[in-house]
Amino acid sequence: MLCPFARGQGDPLAMPSLGPSALFLLLLSSVGSANQPPNFVLIFADDLGFGDLASYGHPTSATPNLDKMAASGLRFTDFYSSSPVCSPSRAALLTGRFQTRSGVYPGVFYPGSRGGLPLAEVTVAEVLKGRGYATAVVGKWHLGFGPNGTFLPTNQGFDHFFGVPYSHDQGPCQNLTCFPPDTRCFGTCDQGVVTVPLIWNQTIVEQPLSFPRLQPRYNAFARDFIADCARRNQPFLLYYASHHTHYPQFASQEYTGQSPRGPFGDALLEFDGSVGHLLQALQVNGVQKNTLVFFTADNGPETMRMSRGGSSGILKCGKGTTYEGGVREPAVAYWPGRITPGVTHEMASTLDILPTLAAMAGVPLPNVTLDGYDLSPVLFGSGKSPRRVMFYYPPSPNQLLGVFAVRYQKYKAHFFTQGAFHSGMTPDADCQGTALLKAHDPPLLFDLDSDPAENYNLLQGSTVGPDVLAVLKETRFQKALFDKQMEFGESQLARGMDPSLEPCCAPQCGPKPSCCSCASTS
Ligand code: MG
Repeated sequence: MLCPFARGQGDPLAMPSLGPSALFLLLLSSVGSANQPPNFVLIFADDLGFGDLASYGHPTSATPNLDKMAASGLRFTDFYSSSPVCSPSRAALLTGRFQTRSGVYPGVFYPGSRGGLPLAEVTVAEVLKGRGYATAVVGKWHLGFGPNGTFLPTNQGFDHFFGVPYSHDQGPCQNLTCFPPDTRCFGTCDQGVVTVPLIWNQTIVEQPLSFPRLQPRYNAFARDFIADCARRNQPFLLYYASHHTHYPQFASQEYTGQSPRGPFGDALLEFDGSVGHLLQALQVNGVQKNTLVFFTADNGPETMRMSRGGSSGILKCGKGTTYEGGVREPAVAYWPGRITPGVTHEMASTLDILPTLAAMAGVPLPNVTLDGYDLSPVLFGSGKSPRRVMFYYPPSPNQLLGVFAVRYQKYKAHFFTQGAFHSGMTPDADCQGTALLKAHDPPLLFDLDSDPAENYNLLQGSTVGPDVLAVLKETRFQKALFDKQMEFGESQLARGMDPSLEPCCAPQCGPKPSCCSCASTS
């Protein structure tokens, strides 16, 4: 196994090198300098629920490294993703803007999607490059592939990409996810499309990729990227977007069969192991004191997979819904020596990551409408979160209905509810795909501090007091104001699909998609 960073100095895709004198000056000017911007490691889990980690109450999850981060860092109880499904959630994380603005709706990208995150959008990687950061993404992209890889990360501000352009179930993958290889695996994946490719920058290096071999290669890539940046004394952003714990779960030999929680637990254990490798790489390379590690996840659990689908704990429903279980996620900010260990109940969101990192790096914000806030007061204990309101969009938002729900301080009002097939197989009928779109006037109103499970509608039953009526009025006002100012970008998913755009390691081969098969070149 060869890591991209070990391909030799002649590699045209390697990071630019500095001459000895320039390097000396850079070292002299920045070592120990209070002005040196921090490094950022952004860890993003996939379909991981609020109740999936030991530090969030799961009784049998084994996550020693994430637990260490939670115990030594700042653990959030009220942290939100912008969407209950993958692509829009990732678009918002990287741009600080709701997915409606960038056009990443409805639903998610597929291998042959014509669209992607528009190149005109400004990603956090592009923002940080303005301050000389090295940038890399390892793992799942899911913001489009497009003609000749137009929408790959290397065109969105990332110097390096090592991973998969979309979800790993978006290809006939099921016989590739088990250890030992080629054993019969549980469930099915998408058929009739190309097998899942592993891409380095813009080049397919393996198709189909071997899932049990994948994580050790990711670990090596991340380690070498961190080591390379540390050697150059260059600040960096490493975005590690794990495939774990999305269905179908997989794990390398080291972790297979190791968790009492079954295949989901094994995948989670492997994910946790990779977090340990990252923390170790920061330590070994001496950059841990100047690195913020931030962990969260893209959307809630896919309970239609039953015990393989994750858990939202006490929260209602999961993936695909605008109930709390769809978008409220575990989140930890970890920076020993800078961030005081503890638990915060302040409201925060993936939308806030770009403004926060920009502020910490000392770079100006892009000249676009942002939906996020600088969370520095929360992270460093100097004040409250600037976020007082959160808006909830369903996977397929439209301008007619606007946001489905509004959280204002501790109160949440549902103006529309809808179940999702992703959230099926639980006893709660509201979560199921058969729970059709329903308007609520007055909205369903919950106090999330006293009732995080959204069980007890404040407007139902006993007499409604003036304080509750004031909250009702405020949530209506917030929805009306937000919906009115939201400008929907052109839908990238409405551009449809073209099978000829699916990534293929042998573009001229036939018949497709089955001919798109190449041995590893990495
Ligand atoms: Mg997801």
